[in-house]
Amino acid sequence: MTSEKVSCLIIGSGPAGYTAAIYASRAGLNPVLYQGGQPGGQLTITTEVDNYPGYPDGITGPEMMINFEKQAKRFGTDIRYGLATEVDFTSYPHKVIIDGKKEIIADSVIVSTGASAKWLGIDGEERLNGRGVSACAVCDGFFFRGQDVVIVGAGDTAAEEASYLAKLCRKVYLLVRRDEMRASKIMQKRVEMLPNIEILWNTETVKLNGEEDLESVVVKNNKTGEETVLDVSGFFVAIGHKPNTDIFKGYLHMDETGYIQTIKGSSCTNIKGVFACGDAQDNVYRQAVTAAGTGCMAALDAERFLMEHEVEVIMEEASA
Ligand SMILES: Cc1cc2nc3c(=O)[nH]c(=O)nc-3n(C[C@H](O)[C@H](O)[C@H](O)COP(=O)(O)OP(=O)(O)OC[C@H]3O[C@@H](n4cnc5c(N)ncnc54)[C@H](O)[C@@H]3O)c2cc1C
Repeated sequence: MTSEKVSCLIIGSGPAGYTAAIYASRAGLNPVLYQGGQPGGQLTITTEVDNYPGYPDGITGPEMMINFEKQAKRFGTDIRYGLATEVDFTSYPHKVIIDGKKEIIADSVIVSTGASAKWLGIDGEERLNGRGVSACAVCDGFFFRGQDVVIVGAGDTAAEEASYLAKLCRKVYLLVRRDEMRASKIMQKRVEMLPNIEILWNTETVKLNGEEDLESVVVKNNKTGEETVLDVSGFFVAIGHKPNTDIFKGYLHMDETGYIQTIKGSSCTNIKGVFACGDAQDNVYRQAVTAAGTGCMAALDAERFLMEHEVEVIMEEASA
């Protein structure tokens, strides 16, 4: 196995990773960034991004991520294809294995591996993604103002996103697979009080219809077997996200769903020299701008850490 020593390793190429790269490069940390299986991150699977500041006319997700990459390259970030497959944070400097065949020895590691939305896996879902189908009401709800939409889910996120959509859309059908929701009582009450939300209990999605864009959704009552066609232009999936953090289990402190825990007000993890940013550590906001913001924090925290560490090493050497 080949081995390489780097000062700052960034894992992931979404808004968080590239922002960390821009700041780390400009601070002279010579970062090496591995892009992972989805170069550009989650935004590469969406069409319009309308809420990222600085783009008054909006921009497509893939275009925006090309801009992020270009900006990181302009300051000299070493951007590479490759997936971090294993880590060892038990001793310092840290070890990260790339594609199972290359070892990176890193003085600092920035984890920006993001999260993946969970999908239902039903007919039409992938084909119509970005053309009526979305996993983010806050991101895409605005495109469905005054229209009828469906949202699927039964937890707090689904309840919150249904309430958000109810402010923008004419009618919101909330599909719940069982005869009760998992959401907290207060969130459920809020949903039930909104007159333009109709909860369809014991209801599952059968398929999504539409050639170019979503035209309707076929749903089925799993108690009676009765199928109904809902004429809607938007279909939101709110059944949860999975942070891409499996390889860090056992090293980094995480919550029960795998979101990395950072020390309040910073990107620092429980391991010195390892920083986390973006959706991998954020189960609340999950936006490009917040991911980029925490990416900036991670680079600044890494810079401070490396500077302090260097001073410590010099002092140790001087006293030896
Ligand atoms: C359909 C959709 C539409 C959205 N629209 C908007 C919007 O309009 N506005 C908005 O603000 N937000 C939007 N979001 C949310 C936004 O995309 C995320 O909040 C943001 O991308 C999170 O950035 P991130 O850098 O943390 O992670 P991600 O974008 O998830 O990127 C993670 C990166 O890590 C890499 N990676 C993962 N595992 C490894 C590994 N083991 N080794 C190396 N690399 C790895 C991946 O390849 C990827 O490059 C949308 C999300 C979706 C799914």
